[in-house]
Amino acid sequence: MLDAVVIGAGPNGLTAAVELARRGMSVEVFEAHGTIGGGARTEELTLPGFRHDPCSAVHPLAVGSPAFSTMPLERYGLKWLHPDIPMAHPFPDGTAGVLARSVGQTAMSFGPRDAGTYRRLVAPFTGKWDTLAHDFLRTQWLGLPKDPVTYARFGLAAAQPISLFNRRFQDEKARALMAGLAAHAIAPLGSFGTTGIAVMFALAAHAVGWPVPRGGSQAIADALAGLLRAHGGAVHTDFEVKRLDDLPPARAYIFDTSPTALARIARLGNAYRDVKYGPSCFKIDYAMAEPVPWTAEEARRAGTVHVGPTSGEIGAALDAAATGQDPSVPFLITAQPSLIDTTRAPEGKHTFWAYGHVPNGWEGDATEVIERQIERFAPGFRDLVLARAVAGPPQIAARNANYVGGDVACGSAAGLRLLIRPKLARVPYETAHPAVFLCSQSTPPGPGVHGMSGHYAAKAAWRRLTAGRR
Ligand SMILES: Cc1cc2nc3c(=O)[nH]c(=O)nc-3n(C[C@H](O)[C@H](O)[C@H](O)COP(=O)(O)OP(=O)(O)OC[C@H]3O[C@@H](n4cnc5c(N)ncnc54)[C@H](O)[C@@H]3O)c2cc1C
Repeated sequence: MLDAVVIGAGPNGLTAAVELARRGMSVEVFEAHGTIGGGARTEELTLPGFRHDPCSAVHPLAVGSPAFSTMPLERYGLKWLHPDIPMAHPFPDGTAGVLARSVGQTAMSFGPRDAGTYRRLVAPFTGKWDTLAHDFLRTQWLGLPKDPVTYARFGLAAAQPISLFNRRFQDEKARALMAGLAAHAIAPLGSFGTTGIAVMFALAAHAVGWPVPRGGSQAIADALAGLLRAHGGAVHTDFEVKRLDDLPPARAYIFDTSPTALARIARLGNAYRDVKYGPSCFKIDYAMAEPVPWTAEEARRAGTVHVGPTSGEIGAALDAAATGQDPSVPFLITAQPSLIDTTRAPEGKHTFWAYGHVPNGWEGDATEVIERQIERFAPGFRDLVLARAVAGPPQIAARNANYVGGDVACGSAAGLRLLIRPKLARVPYETAHPAVFLCSQSTPPGPGVHGMSGHYAAKAAWRRLTAGRR
């Protein structure tokens, strides 16, 4: 009898497996896909030699993760590469707002009327990334904050919708940049907690950067799996779990799946019937003859480029995705890892990644509206495209069963669903079945490659397993 079986080899499943194996437990992981990693994978999606990240590409939450920081992942091949500028947000006049490593450079890019406001916003949190990450990348009601004063101060700002918080800025550069950061929650800008998302991403840029892993996101999953094997764990691929009986007997089953799949596989009935899946993405991976010819010089040096341009347009794009409308002027999150990682493409060539938001289950083709939007800020872009791999909600859902209807957050993060995931429970990692746990991003702290859901699910399982032994 194994101590634990983990279903799904995404970053959370692998983290849960590593944490239990490091405590001496026998652990095996079963993954449906032919390769491990879930949302942290790398593949030749377009042409030979072009290595694309189909999902996550840029990793402020991984490099700043309290769970990963305790693991010697660099020994298993993980190497972080930092771009010159973490993120640029270009405007039609050829200028750009910039999220730089330095607070000063960031503030300066907003212009004189908002520079001081930005400095005052981040000053109380500067140098406190470790406690903020510990206190906010978790279930808010489980345990006391490490730094209650900073927690309260951050929480008061974080709870606000970014549409309200942004009123303190006078010019569009700061407002648009903050709105673009908040949009990573894939929720309307009027939603509870969107300021928290924006400020956390900004603080991460100043504290730990927005790096990419050398070789692609697969390197994160491979390093976790390497560490797991070093502690005696095993990973099985091409094994889609359909029933608990498919698995070897174990004292705990930890699901890195959607709550819907968990309920079906572990026969939990209607336990998660109220889970709401959110909007999806339309993602394009490009093989490029040259780097993207952004007009704004800062965008040519940034690992990530947000294409809004204004907070109004970003808000409209998110509202459209949330209310089932076709995208017309999408807000784009784009990444250009090959600028700093030569392993991603043949010499002199590049990979580029872009997505906009679309409704859950949307079956249209957003290629034209996405490329029209890129061309506004990088004229001549299309002429440099060698090949493209296009994925709308059906393809995204087919790549990974956790993306229900193409919802890449595995459960809406709008409003209180950012905190209460997948449903109201004291310990959301526990289920009605005493041996079954949930560790995917459908639990707090939610989306992103940080392993924190896996970390807390492993803790819950460990408590149960050791209580049994006692
Ligand atoms: C287009 C896109 C861009 C993104 N960009 C970023 C980014 O830049 N930075 C960032 O931090 N995050 C990003 N993310 C989010 C990030 O990828 C996810 O938040 C993260 O991967 C969630 O990890 P997880 O372990 O919860 O689940 P997943 O990574 O989804 O892994 C779940 C695994 O479980 C497997 N599985 C599911 N059901 C079964 C079953 N029945 N049997 C066996 N195996 C099963 C799946 O195949 C999958 O491998 C992005 C996501 C997408 C889709």
